[in-house]
Amino acid sequence: MSRLCRLTLTFLFVFFPFIAHAQWYKHSFKVMGTMSHVEFWLDQQSKTDNDIINAGVAQNEQAQALIKAVELEMVRIDQQMSPYKEQSELSLVNRSADKKPVLISGELFELLSTAQHISALSDGAFDITYASIGYQYNYREKTRPSQSSIVQTLPAINYTAISLDKKRSTVYFNHQGMKIDLGGIAKGYAVKRCLTLLEEAGIKHALVSAGGDTGLLGNRKGRPWLVGIKHPRAEHKMAVHIPLENEAISTSGDYERYFIEDGVRYHHIINPKTGDSARKVVSVSVIGKDPTYVDALSTTVFVKGLTPGLKLINALPDFEAIIIDNQRRLHYSQGLQQ
Ligand code: AMP
Ligand code: MG
Repeated sequence: MSRLCRLTLTFLFVFFPFIAHAQWYKHSFKVMGTMSHVEFWLDQQSKTDNDIINAGVAQNEQAQALIKAVELEMVRIDQQMSPYKEQSELSLVNRSADKKPVLISGELFELLSTAQHISALSDGAFDITYASIGYQYNYREKTRPSQSSIVQTLPAINYTAISLDKKRSTVYFNHQGMKIDLGGIAKGYAVKRCLTLLEEAGIKHALVSAGGDTGLLGNRKGRPWLVGIKHPRAEHKMAVHIPLENEAISTSGDYERYFIEDGVRYHHIINPKTGDSARKVVSVSVIGKDPTYVDALSTTVFVKGLTPGLKLINALPDFEAIIIDNQRRLHYSQGLQQ
């Protein structure tokens, strides 16, 4: 290291002892078919000139290890819960649970239980068995099930037909041909797991996102994080920015995966009562402490639409919502109206 470099470091250490080795670390990567992002503040204090140099190296290594751990955790959850991977635990369940009870991991059991809780809370607007018809849509190929196929398959959308046996840790579908999908909840769960991982490593300021699901630890060092909600009809524009600390926010929009046929938008959020895409609003963001619930609730409120959606959120003290309706008007739940 050059003399000048050492002098600069010594200067930094003497005059800015707490910031000499503190910095933001950021990393973006693709997983779960979407872009994920992690960003955190890492600081260490050292005492001597040489320690400063060593601490800098150690800190970079620690930061890279944390970034890797976050990425691996998301990949692990994707491998467990992806419907596109034949070997995933979810695929195994979908192949067999309509024939016999399937033994599942405690982790999947917990997530299925949470999904069931939100289905009950939302009167079935959130229903992971939507997949019984949902898997017949292909947004890339622009294909969708015929009306007769929907009518025939609709009875296989029914969350009450999922039997969870906690003692045996098994899942059973009381309906032949029933399928489940965790696309409306698994990214929020992955964000939650990654935030926990960072928190346990002593991180106090962090952002983790997977697609439209974001979780925050603390603030952005003295100021709030500013999380953007995408403009539903202008890809690179934001409709609004929300200042947040220590919260999670998830956005569900009809612009994520869709195709348009005869002027009708067919997109990835399905109304379980009709087997068709939900079209009452165009974007829903939900804010709250638990990233898993926030993710599932944004999908839920999207299906419910403006008035019933706000009614549900206003009845839940721990959650708030921002809805963009079909006329592109913004609506806020009660707690955000001051
Ligand atoms: P999100 O972007 O969080 O709103 O999640 C959308 C994803 O949730 C879709 O891609 C599906 O995987 C899944 N999904 C769609 N409709 C429903 C529904 N009614 N209940 C639960 N999950 C759903
Ligand atoms: Mg969601």
